[in-house]
Amino acid sequence: MSDSKKINPQDYAIETRAVRAGQERTQEGENSEPIFPTSSYVFASAAEAAARFSGEQPGNIYSRFTNPTVRTFEERLAAMEGAECCVATASGMSAITATCIGLLQSGDHIVSSRSIFGTTTVLFENFLGKLGIATTFVELSDLNAWEQAIKPETKLLFLETPSNPLTELVDIAALAEIAHKNDCLLVVDNCFCTPVLQQPIALGADIIIHSATKYIDGQGRCMGGAVCGTRDIVGESVFGFLRTAGPTMSAFNAWVFLKGLETLSLRMHAHSASALELAQWLEQQAVVERVYYPGLESHPQHQLAKQQQKGFGGIVSFELKGGKEQGWKLIDATRMVSITANLGDTKTTITHPATTTHGRLSPEQRQQAGISDGLIRVAVGLEDINDIKNDLSRGM
Ligand SMILES: *Cc1c(COP(=O)(O)O)cnc(C)c1O
Repeated sequence: MSDSKKINPQDYAIETRAVRAGQERTQEGENSEPIFPTSSYVFASAAEAAARFSGEQPGNIYSRFTNPTVRTFEERLAAMEGAECCVATASGMSAITATCIGLLQSGDHIVSSRSIFGTTTVLFENFLGKLGIATTFVELSDLNAWEQAIKPETKLLFLETPSNPLTELVDIAALAEIAHKNDCLLVVDNCFCTPVLQQPIALGADIIIHSATKYIDGQGRCMGGAVCGTRDIVGESVFGFLRTAGPTMSAFNAWVFLKGLETLSLRMHAHSASALELAQWLEQQAVVERVYYPGLESHPQHQLAKQQQKGFGGIVSFELKGGKEQGWKLIDATRMVSITANLGDTKTTITHPATTTHGRLSPEQRQQAGISDGLIRVAVGLEDINDIKNDLSRGM
C-alpha cells in the first residue's frame, strides 16, 4: 500500500479523525475504504513467511489477528479515543471477556459498579468467578465505596458512565486517582457516550471498552466491540488472548463500523438533542413518577455530566406509577418505536429492563441495581421528536 496523504490524527479535530484516520489507500486510489474479505495472506517466499510468523517483519498473516479493514477501524477508533492502541472484537461482550482474561489470573479481584450491563454482571459472577476471579460490586457514584472495596488482590476497577439504564455517573478523574493509588487499572465501558461525548483516557482511565453494536454502527446492523488503551496493555495482553481464542471482528463488520464512525458525531448530537426534549416532556406527564436523564436539571449529577461530557446521550429511562402492568401497557400501545433491547440505532427502541436486559438477575440483584418493575428505557432514535412523543403517549 502507498498513500502519501495518510493523516496524522493529532493534527485534527475528532470529527475529522472520524472520517480520515487510519485510511491507507491501495494502489487502486479508492476514495472509500475497501473491504478485505480474505482469511489468509500470501508471502513472497518461505523466508518472508518465517519472518512474518516470528514477528521480525510486520504485515498480514491470517485474518483472525491481522486484517487491513479491521486495522483501519482500530486505528480510527484509537485516534478518536486518544488511545495509543485499539483491538477490535466480535462483540462488546468479547471485548470485556478478552480484557479480563488477557489481564487477570486466578486469585485476582475486580471492583465493579453495580449498575452495569446485565450480561457483564453474569460474566463476572458466573464465569470469571468459576475461574477464581472474584468481583465486588459497589454503588457507581460512591467514591468511598470503591476505595473500601479495593483489596491487595484487586487489579481492575470496571464501570459504565452514564450507567445502563439509570444514567448514573461517576467522576472518572477522581476514580482514576483512586485506581492508580492502589495499582489498579481503571476500565470504562464508553458505549453510551462514545468518544464524541466523553473521552475517558483524557480523564485518566486506562482501558476503554466499546460495544460497537450500539452507536458506532448506529443503524442496528452488526455485532462488534473494541478495547482501547496503551500498546502494552491492549496491544500485548488483550490482543494476545484475542488472537489465540479468536473472538475477533470480521472485515465486513469492520467496514460497517468504519462508515458508522464517519457520521458518529452528527448522530450523537442529534440523539442527545431529541433525548433532552423527550426527557423534559416525560417530566410533565401525569403517569410518570420519575425521569432519569443526565441533561435534566433534576438529575442529581447534572453538574458532573456537564463537566465530564460534551453531551448527555440518547438514553432516557423513566419510572411509571403503575409498575409492570402500566409499563407493558405503554410498550404494547406503541405503533412506531421498536420493542427491542438494542440501543444506539436510528430507530427509537423501547425496553422493559426488569423482564429483558436485566431479567437474568435475581430479584434481589435487580432491586440493588435500582431496576424497578415500572422502569422503561427508551433509546431515542433519529425520527422526528414529535412522532416519538405521540407514539409514547398512546399508552399513557
Ligand atoms: C450492549 C452492551 C454491551 C455488550 O455488547 P454486545 O455487542 O451486545 O456484546 C456492553 N456494555 C454496554 C454498556 C452495552 O450496552
